This record gives sequence, structure tokens and C-alpha cells, in this order.
Amino acid sequence: MRRVSATLEFIPLGAGAGYGHPDQAQSGYLVRAGDTAVALDMGAGTFNRLMGFVDPRHLDAVVISHLHPDHLADLLAARIYMAHGPGLGHPMHVHAPPGLMGRLEGIAAGEPWAGITAHDLPAGGGTLEIGDVVVRHAEVPHLPPTHALRVERGGKSVTYGADCRPNDALPELAQGTDILVVECTFGEGDIPEGAMHMNARAVGEMAAAARPGRVLLVHGDPAVDRDASVDIVRRAYDGPVEWARERHVYTA
Ligand SMILES: [Zn+2]
Repeated sequence: MRRVSATLEFIPLGAGAGYGHPDQAQSGYLVRAGDTAVALDMGAGTFNRLMGFVDPRHLDAVVISHLHPDHLADLLAARIYMAHGPGLGHPMHVHAPPGLMGRLEGIAAGEPWAGITAHDLPAGGGTLEIGDVVVRHAEVPHLPPTHALRVERGGKSVTYGADCRPNDALPELAQGTDILVVECTFGEGDIPEGAMHMNARAVGEMAAAARPGRVLLVHGDPAVDRDASVDIVRRAYDGPVEWARERHVYTA
């Protein structure tokens, strides 16, 4: 029995940084809208949490923003479920930058691969139609190529900035979105020379340009001052701002 909802729901399964924290998983998010469920990234710890919200056999697709391991590691767990577990016969469709399958197969160490079907995201950006939702994607500066993702249904939307340094592509993609999910790796601190991540000041400028309904901060280094970071974002953006609560259901 598939779940039907009249709104768009955004659920952070994991919103942590690239290494461990006892209360956080790595990057992974679930969007539910209408009769459709789409996962955005699947970092370590997020596949088990996803199973608390949706039967993986009923997941319409996974979209991977970029090929850093903290955004895709649990595809290895998903693959066991799909190839040898209850998902047998229900291949998982994964849209990702080119090269995903080569990386996964390398880790699987020669075992026959089944259960996941990969589709390359076109360079630059584009539009995917997945069930009841439309996913618009655009490249942002990080590990090339990295795609920011905007999921829309019926005038409601959530925009996930992936990992990125300050740029103009994300606020353009996110213009007027209901929920802007944006990384804030360096929090209240400065962005080190050459780093490909954001801080709170950059998030504030981006939110001021994109005018979202609300801002969710993610991917913060465990050492950052959470409250100070929110205060800095609020200096530039007067809407709701918070660090994303994992497993909380946000509604657009
Ligand atoms: Zn990354």
C-alpha cells in the first residue's frame, strides 16, 4: 500500500559532516510528495533511517549530488537489500554523476553486481521527471561535477544545495523555494583559502538572494557554534533558520 500525501515533505535522514558524530548520520534526505518518494544522497547511516519512513522497494529514485563517499556510502547497504534481500526484483534507480558504478563495484570486490541501476546526470544541469515530482538540477562549485537539486510538485519545492562554496548557481536554482537546505561547514568561522564549502555569512547572503520560505543548515563541522551560526544567517535573512533536525518531517 503506497502512501499518498497532498503536500511535499522533506525529511533529513542524516545532515552531518563527513565524519562521525554520535547523534548524526552523514548526508541523506527523503522527499515525499503525492505518490512519490525520492532520496537525495545516501551517506553512511541514512539507508537504515530511510527504512523507517518508506519501504525501499517503493522508493522511486535516488539522486546523488556528487561522488564524495559521505554522500553515497550507504548505496552499498542498499545494494545488499536490493540484490539479496527483500528488494530482489525491484531494482533501485540511481541518478548520479558519471562514474558511480565503477566506484561501487570496486568496493564490492568482484561480487556480481545487481539491484541498482545507475543513470548519468547530464553535465551542467537539467530536469528529471520522477513519478509525481520534477527534479531540476544545476552544477555548483565543489567536487566536479556536483549538482544542487530542486524537487518540485504542485508549486511546492525544496532545494538542496549539495556541498558547495559560495556561488550564484544555487540561489538562482533556489529562487523562491519553500525550503532551502544549505551546507554550512564552517559555521561562524571563515572559509579557508581554496575550500569548497560554505560558512554562515555566505549562507545568509545566499538566502537573502534566493528568498526561500525557510532555511535549514546542514553538513556543519561538529566543532562549529550552532547558535552563533544561526545568528549570523539571520543578519542577512529574516525568515526561519535552524540546523536541520534529523528524522523530523518538514512540510512545504
Ligand atoms: Zn562533498
